[in-house]
Amino acid sequence: MNKIFLYNTLGREKQEFVPINEGNVGMYCCGPTVYNYAHIGNLRSYFFEDILKRVLIYNGYDVTHIVNITDVGHLVSDDDEGEDKMEKGSKREGKTVRELADFYEKAFIKDITDLNILSPTKWCKATDNIKEQIGLVECLEKKGFTYKTSDGVYFDTSKFPDYGKLALLDIEGLEEGRRISFSNEKKNKTDFALWKFSPEGQKRQMEWDSPWGTGFPGWHVECSAMSMKFLGNTFDIHCGGVDHIPIHHTNEIAQAEACTGKQFVRYWLHGEFLIEEKGKMSKSKEEFLRLPVMIEKGYSPMDYRYFLLMTHYRKKIKFTFENLDAARNGLNNLKDKISEVRKLSEDKIVQSEKTTEYKSKFTECINDDLNVSEGLALLWEVLKSDNITPGEKLFLINDFDRVLGLRLNEVPAAIAGEIPQEIFELIEKRRQAKQLRDFALADRIRDDIKVKGYEVLDKKGGEVEIKKI
Ligand code: AMP
Ligand code: ZN
Repeated sequence: MNKIFLYNTLGREKQEFVPINEGNVGMYCCGPTVYNYAHIGNLRSYFFEDILKRVLIYNGYDVTHIVNITDVGHLVSDDDEGEDKMEKGSKREGKTVRELADFYEKAFIKDITDLNILSPTKWCKATDNIKEQIGLVECLEKKGFTYKTSDGVYFDTSKFPDYGKLALLDIEGLEEGRRISFSNEKKNKTDFALWKFSPEGQKRQMEWDSPWGTGFPGWHVECSAMSMKFLGNTFDIHCGGVDHIPIHHTNEIAQAEACTGKQFVRYWLHGEFLIEEKGKMSKSKEEFLRLPVMIEKGYSPMDYRYFLLMTHYRKKIKFTFENLDAARNGLNNLKDKISEVRKLSEDKIVQSEKTTEYKSKFTECINDDLNVSEGLALLWEVLKSDNITPGEKLFLINDFDRVLGLRLNEVPAAIAGEIPQEIFELIEKRRQAKQLRDFALADRIRDDIKVKGYEVLDKKGGEVEIKKI
């Protein structure tokens, strides 16, 4: 196998990736809290994780990929105070928490499917794994890491000497802050809730009995408990957005390692944020851009994917519609080139020494901490080269797209000269209609295309061919 280098937040350096079990990777990614739609910033995180997974698969690994759905316990403040985001959302929308969770989970899965993000091996919901979460808190209690306050059971971070190693936290600095901002019964500023009690005299929609009283698990507990349940006490990779480093992932490590006495995760990978002109894009701002809104404005999900591909996952991206337009133009130009290659190759794919050479150049880019923008640049180089035959180009387009995920195998061949952009757009709409199983709409679009002078022929693997009539 080729060497893969990944930037490990734990240690802050690029390290060679060596899995625990040869040929196999266990990977856990923090998923959405389903109290609202995902915004395009959230989707950037899932896109980066998709690239990581595709790179591992491209290199020949089997990946067991677990993603959680948070449907309880995530409070509006990271300080274990305030309302549960789910219960708050349920009041806002007049739905039960279950209805709310199901609705936003569906919307989320639709978004990631549109973005061509590969489905995880398993989705796991916090509310389906309460027993395991109580088990983890019991384990911590038995080992002396917990204490009880009037509102819950807390983790005593002063008892875990390695606390904050991921985030390189300055605990003493934080403790100084304590005098000013610290008012509840927590012993240390960094202590966090493992189990919260339902408020006195109130019945929550989501609550369970536990050895400490009726209530619900703290948000961090779900990820430690479920990742270890599905991947073992020590596993290979854990990912999320950079905002998770100082609190959520730091606490996940403390809980897991305090209980098992073993290293929890070997490689921690974090994706940088998508920002807007006015700063960080955030769900709690109630005003954010979603993928379906982008589609309504006439962009395709692949335009956004191409936009994301142009920047390394550890760099911030500023989102503007001008930048998105530039990405759309780039993708359209790429599709035009590919159309031409298809036509010239007559859809014959050729594998040769040259393709092997380019494949290894591509591997070198993507294995260097997921440098897919360089991989994309290499695809452009291939398409422009006079020394590579159309058949070889077609092989490389399909091969690189296993990682880029731009659905390039669906770009139709330009059989009869230049095909107008409008026709490509109709074909993309038809593809989406077919994916949603709206065949009546797909047929109507085919008729529209015919009126405009082109015939669409469906081929295997979702490919289409266009003929001028
Ligand atoms: P949430 O649903 O709020 O728990 O967030 C889901 C994922 O999106 C987490 O991994 C966050 O770190 C990530 N995330 C939140 N905001 C952004 C942003 N503006 N850009 C990129 N990722 C984000
Ligand atoms: Zn998590």
